[in-house]
Amino acid sequence: MEARLDLDGKPIKPITICMIGAGGFIGSHLCEKLLAETPHTVLAVDVYYDKIKHLLEHPAGRIQFHRLNIKNDPRLEGLIKMSDLTINLAAICTPADYNTRPLDTIYSNFIDALPVVRYCSENGKRLIHFSTCEVYGKTIGSFLPKDHHLRKVLSCSSTFYEPDFYLLKEDSSPCIFGPIEKQRWSYACAKQLIERLIYAEGAENGLEFTIVRPFNWIGPRMDFIPGVDGPSEGVPRVLACFSNNLLRREPLKLVDGGQSQRTFVYIKDAIEAVLLMIENPARVNGQIFNVGNPNNEVTVKQLAEIMTEVYSKVSGEPPLEVPTIDVSSQEFYGEGYDDSDKRIPDMTIINRQLGWSPKTSLQDLLDSTLTYQHKTYAEAIKRAMTKPTAT
Ligand code: NAD
Ligand code: UDP
Repeated sequence: MEARLDLDGKPIKPITICMIGAGGFIGSHLCEKLLAETPHTVLAVDVYYDKIKHLLEHPAGRIQFHRLNIKNDPRLEGLIKMSDLTINLAAICTPADYNTRPLDTIYSNFIDALPVVRYCSENGKRLIHFSTCEVYGKTIGSFLPKDHHLRKVLSCSSTFYEPDFYLLKEDSSPCIFGPIEKQRWSYACAKQLIERLIYAEGAENGLEFTIVRPFNWIGPRMDFIPGVDGPSEGVPRVLACFSNNLLRREPLKLVDGGQSQRTFVYIKDAIEAVLLMIENPARVNGQIFNVGNPNNEVTVKQLAEIMTEVYSKVSGEPPLEVPTIDVSSQEFYGEGYDDSDKRIPDMTIINRQLGWSPKTSLQDLLDSTLTYQHKTYAEAIKRAMTKPTAT
């Protein structure tokens, strides 16, 4: 293999990476990329390995799986010490948990991450920590009165106001959360505090860190399909919820009318950005990065419409006559749910430091993702749906 060069033209030396949460959605794609395109070694830490099973027989043996729960396992420090870089992806990160399991959410996103930060700091190891775009919370624009002249209604499902009121910038946007009784914000708040702690470790103790704020990364292997490879009553993130509805030929549920807006980025584009961070430490040290695709903005309702159309194309089945239904957030998520209204990442910093920008359109990423969902799950769903129920 020819020596690979970093963005400054220097050869990249092979390193060992301790990847915590490697068995999840993002971890599985990152492991795949590292094994296929780099000489690096991965110590993959998780409690599950189903999503990386296919990689564990890698002929060069550059990935080792360590089944451990970082909450209470003394082996963690040794693995971090053996590595040049630690990437922490471990988290409870599905909105259905934030208001129903707020304690687990706060422990997972703050308390459980503390030893990881401490071991990196004490042992002089680099840390790439996964935070979230949710640390921004709600946009300033969402607080403009409905009839304010800065808020222009474009159609029944979209409003427009000046970018200063919604564009999310790492170094200048405020973090705006709802009241404590809206437990939705337990996740965002825990993530914000761990970001502040990591930042302070950098400032006071010289920790070499990078913080990643993903903006709705989606693609194959995201979450689970309830009743197939996850609990029947489980509520995954929107891609898997809508995929499940489409596979079962039931209407897609629009929470509070599906008016919230999101920007979706293809997992494979986002992983390119993470690889650049891994291999260009001098350019990313002490930085916080938005990683998303500002060009792929839709309301959740529009997402449902596009997914319905794309799924019909990839499955060959006609769309349902009534493709969506509205449900209240109270009914869908329970007490204490709240929502981010709009999330558009400012891309200035990642562009300047790494020259990265996303490439894949929403249409293309849904084409490939829903083709995967259909191939992976359609038969299993049919079998599950025709199974006689116990009397
Ligand atoms: P995921 O749930 O698929 O992966 C997380 C993995 O961490 C899981 O495999 C889980 O088993 C593991 N894990 C959790 N607690 C653990 C523990 N105590 N010990 C060992 N392993 C543990 O989630 P993901 O989408 O891959 O997200 C990864 C990270 O990125 C998370 O920190 C999440 O908050 C952040 N993030 C992701 C998105 C996105 O769009 N996917 C958006 C915002 C933030
Ligand atoms: N949502 C929805 N129907 C579903 C699942 C989610 O309308 O079946 C909405 C949810 O209320 C939110 C958006 O889709 O407005 C994105 O939800 P997701 O779970 O992906 O996480 P978030 O982007 O809020 O972190």
